[in-house]
Amino acid sequence: MSNVELAPAERAELLRRLVAGELPDSRGRFGPFGGRYAPETLITALERLTEGVQRYLRDPAFQSELAAELKDWVGRPTALSHAPTLSRRWGVEVYLKREDLAHTGAHKINNALGQALLAKRFGAKRVIAETGAGQHGVATAAACARVGIPCIVYMGAVDVLRQAPNVERMVQFGAEVVPVKSGDKTLRAAIDEAFRDWVADPAGSYYLLGSALGPHPYPLLVRELQAVIGREARAQFIERTGGLPDAVFACVGGGSNAIGLFHPLAGDASVALIGIEAGGRSNKLGDNAATLATGRPGVLHGTCSLLLQDADGQVQETHSVSAGLDYPGVGPEHALLQAIGRASYGSATDDEALEALRECCASEGILPAIESAHALAGAKRWARNNAGKKILIGMSGRGDKDMPTLSQVFGGARKILAEAGHD
Ligand SMILES: *Cc1c(COP(=O)(O)O)cnc(C)c1O
Repeated sequence: MSNVELAPAERAELLRRLVAGELPDSRGRFGPFGGRYAPETLITALERLTEGVQRYLRDPAFQSELAAELKDWVGRPTALSHAPTLSRRWGVEVYLKREDLAHTGAHKINNALGQALLAKRFGAKRVIAETGAGQHGVATAAACARVGIPCIVYMGAVDVLRQAPNVERMVQFGAEVVPVKSGDKTLRAAIDEAFRDWVADPAGSYYLLGSALGPHPYPLLVRELQAVIGREARAQFIERTGGLPDAVFACVGGGSNAIGLFHPLAGDASVALIGIEAGGRSNKLGDNAATLATGRPGVLHGTCSLLLQDADGQVQETHSVSAGLDYPGVGPEHALLQAIGRASYGSATDDEALEALRECCASEGILPAIESAHALAGAKRWARNNAGKKILIGMSGRGDKDMPTLSQVFGGARKILAEAGHD
């Protein structure tokens, strides 16, 4: 259920405009959502970025440089894998779009590389980023090393400790990691600090945002850079099966891997688009990150979208076993897709995601990120009432980064030793 009621004619018109490439509009609106809610000091930088996006994203020279780097460095196109054992077990034909095989292990590199190349064209002297779990920081640091531009990553002090291996990777890629000790010492404080840095030098610095969120033009820019996933998957699926999938699944945190997969399929009316959010421990406010299920409209980090907030409009803490889905907001294009009924959104709990991860490992020899396992869990549930259908699941990333969590949950080496009679 969406919290924004639109008349049927309005829904149809918004879908038509979205498919025709007319959304976001010139003010960055996706119907009732999106826009640009930013301090006066950043408006010039955002306008300049918008002009750059319009100019470069359609510029053949930029496009060919990006395409060459995606092929040569990222390893695109990523595979579309049939999953024979999951197909047999679930009673539907399962295909996986393998962003886990992309360089640095997830879809985030598509966006980081594209924006790093854009920063270079802008003549920026440095790139600023912020990161929570560290995955966006790693992708940005790697892309900046490749493109040859200095990179500063703001990270909450608590997260620096929690995500030590990712911090080490960023440092090896030459990034300067700045621990943020103010506020909640996690992602929210890091975002505030990164914005402060950008305000101080909006012309010399490039702010590299990590999901399909934030003030216009970021939701547009990130979608365009991630849409390579959906364009490839659509063509690969037709080539392999002779037609389109009946349903497409992706996990939704900020929403970038999902919008990358969904957007190029939005005009294919027969394809159900299904996003899966983090259901966490329970459906109580604070126990999950299921923004589209229970959020209400509001403004966070520069954009109007659905938000997890209490009755007074206070943004709520969230919980998920996957750090990458643990965010109280969601990209505005998803809020629109839900409001016009073009996509639907469900959730998977921590336990369901971990169970699906295990099943995918044992069945297919593929270790998904815990984020991606939410999409698997959602697809598995859907399959129960849809026998014989063909489905496409976005594997947004690989689970190697999740080993500490997985050994905690499943026992790991300690359990193996105990079962073998060692203590
Ligand atoms: C960061 C991340 C996500 C969530 O981000 P989106 O912007 O919603 O895609 C999902 N999967 C993986 C593997 C991630 O690293």
